[in-house]
Amino acid sequence: MHDEYEAASIWARETLAIRAGHERTGEQEHGEPIFPTSSFVYGSAAEAARKFNGEEPGNVYSRFTNPTVRTFEHRLAALEGGERCVATSSGMAAILSTALALLSAGDEIVASRSLFGSTVSLFDKYLGKLGITTRYVELSDLAAWEAAVTPATRLLFAETPSNPLSEVVDIAALADIAHRHGALLAIDNCFLTPALQRPLALGADLVIHSATKYLDGQGRAVGGAVVGRDAELEAVFGVVRTCGPCMSPFNAWIFTKGLETLELRMRAHCQNAQALAEWLAAHPAVSRVHYSGLAGHAQHALAARQQSGFGAVLGIEVVGGREAAWSVIDATRLLSITGNLGDVKSTITHPATTTHGRLSEAQKAAAGITEGLMRVAVGLEAFDDIRNDLARGLDALV
Ligand SMILES: *Cc1c(COP(=O)(O)O)cnc(C)c1O
Repeated sequence: MHDEYEAASIWARETLAIRAGHERTGEQEHGEPIFPTSSFVYGSAAEAARKFNGEEPGNVYSRFTNPTVRTFEHRLAALEGGERCVATSSGMAAILSTALALLSAGDEIVASRSLFGSTVSLFDKYLGKLGITTRYVELSDLAAWEAAVTPATRLLFAETPSNPLSEVVDIAALADIAHRHGALLAIDNCFLTPALQRPLALGADLVIHSATKYLDGQGRAVGGAVVGRDAELEAVFGVVRTCGPCMSPFNAWIFTKGLETLELRMRAHCQNAQALAEWLAAHPAVSRVHYSGLAGHAQHALAARQQSGFGAVLGIEVVGGREAAWSVIDATRLLSITGNLGDVKSTITHPATTTHGRLSEAQKAAAGITEGLMRVAVGLEAFDDIRNDLARGLDALV
């Protein structure tokens, strides 16, 4: 599989996840090697000159390109169905690099109200300082997106499904709104990964990843990526190459190996999450379960159409507010009490006092972050053990 883009049209996604992007060195290694080198050498002054001025492809310096990082980029590009991928030091670096590459002072972003907290801070605090303004709208309300777009809008930005309430937006319809107004659509695909949702095929222009989550899947490293067309990605590459938020080859190797089990892991995550959501929905202490895999979810049909799975992040509301939610969390012995997700280990958190703790009461109310809400990112432990760990606290409430 030396040419991933050719390969992408021939091989199934499951195969690409395991094979794409690996170019063997002269050692004929079977696995993917790590290249922990800052720079590269040349056979002659003329060759060095050609590599530096881009006349001849090749590596110059690991802030620009590195073979281990390239393997990860090619593999993820093949999985997302994009022309090109640029890896970054974190998910936030992926969003920052995209913004610096594609936006200028005076440009506007229209974004979903339900975004990762640091993404909102990046847009408001740091892009705001550069004269780039962001308007927030209800994720699933297409009329609100349309109404918020102005002639200065260059980028629409959304996470779907949302965290932690599992709201969904119609990506194809959102891409249509963006394109009619000459803007680009970026989708943060962190929660589903290309195993379950491919935004580019639905019309999005850019896919953003925090590789820290499911791409690694075992909580070992922080990294990110942007995937899309050559034209935009060349600009993103320019930012990473010049400004420096590049991915380390060690982390790239971890993420490359993570991709090899992505399909299997996501399928197993979904299976545990679906079973848990159905069990929770029938529990007398639970007032509401937010999971798009449940038939009663307001956007179940849309989610079933544009996703090939429903993911593994559940919003669970209990009667009795913060005290009740905290008692369920504190009764766990297996689930990790942490804000992290996308790990084989199940995690549980109380969004109102942790991940969404900085929001005002009004913002929390608007975002649906109630005091009785818990978020569970369902891992790959045995289903009965996960269920029993939650049952201990939930049963005590009734
Ligand atoms: C974690 C996360 C990010 C940020 O990624 P980092 O790797 O932590 O920088 C962005 N978007 C979503 C949806 C996330 O969950």
